[in-house]
Amino acid sequence: MTPSPLRDADATPLARKLAARLAAGGPLSVHDYMEACLYDPEYGYYRTKAAIGQGGDFITAPEISQVFGELIGLWAGEVWRQMGEPAPVRLVELGPGRGTLMADALRALKVVPGFLAGATIHLVETSKALQEAQRAALGEAPVRMSWHDDLKDVPDGPAILIANEFFDCLPVEQFVFDAAASWRERMVELEGGAFRFAVGPVVKTPQGLDCAAANEIEDGAVFERRPAVGGIIDAFAARSPFAALIIDYGYFRPSFGDTVQAVRAHRFAGLFDAPGESDVTAHVNFLQLKQAAADAKLEAFGPMPLGEWLLRLGLEARVTQLSGRASQNEADEMRSRVARLVDPAQMGALFKVLVLTNGVSAPPPPF
Ligand code: SAH
Repeated sequence: MTPSPLRDADATPLARKLAARLAAGGPLSVHDYMEACLYDPEYGYYRTKAAIGQGGDFITAPEISQVFGELIGLWAGEVWRQMGEPAPVRLVELGPGRGTLMADALRALKVVPGFLAGATIHLVETSKALQEAQRAALGEAPVRMSWHDDLKDVPDGPAILIANEFFDCLPVEQFVFDAAASWRERMVELEGGAFRFAVGPVVKTPQGLDCAAANEIEDGAVFERRPAVGGIIDAFAARSPFAALIIDYGYFRPSFGDTVQAVRAHRFAGLFDAPGESDVTAHVNFLQLKQAAADAKLEAFGPMPLGEWLLRLGLEARVTQLSGRASQNEADEMRSRVARLVDPAQMGALFKVLVLTNGVSAPPPPF
């Protein structure tokens, strides 16, 4: 047997596979390392694990409160009206997790006359295990559903798309600024039997930073962008009428810093600790999304802080309505969960909402 190039005898199967790849081919970009951690066909996190919820690795807004998905359902109903109530209409979700958001949205959409009768639901999901969870969560819903590995497989036609914590999963390229006023791509190399960061050859100014003045950027600054964004936004723009609701954690001003994070069992883990075993994501560069939307001639609204968006959509009224039917304890619990979504010190400010539309006559609520 060939000796493993890794020092750690308990390394994960993906660590061994990556080490063999590095030993043979030299350093990998951070992008390719992250891509392997998430999408390696055998061991990638979104192929094998993707454990969402209290007992898993991370928790998301729809798992915190049903009100989140319900308000999104009502939002979709309103946008459908603004589109002129096309039928059929495709309600598409990118990365639907355990199916909770869609189940809550469809329940709320029952009050929108005509919507469910004319809608087909399309769930775009890479994880087979999560596809199963989605089937279980949505089995009873009175509407036609199909699953797809890729957005390109969703049939043409008017569409409303939802992407909650989807873009953060897409691998980022990282570029490091050095004192010689040049950018280098950040890489991962194998040294002494362990993974570590390295810098690659000089590259031209990364796209999206073309107008930033070099003398304002500090030595060692890290800039992140996602190469997959342009293709996804172009796929949006191929549809009309169309609206996409993008919710994620991230930043809007040009911003520097390494935001790639590995999370396992609700705690931060080292990026190189156990590849394939933890969720690896990075904050979303909303400016990049908006630039891609402008290039594709889409209309853009936001980003707006999630807390503000939920309050302006009528979160309080819905909570009051649900509280009326609940015990005191249940009502208190619901209020504390909703506060987590809205409070700027928790998810209310870091999470942002960006809406992109094509061929829709009015701004989507509450913009
Ligand atoms: N929206 C859900 C889940 C967020 S986690 C929620 O809010 O709870 C990210 C989701 O995107 C998971 O379902 C993951 O399996 C899926 N996913 C990640 N990368 C994907 C890709 N490239 N294509 C489709 N689905 C993807």
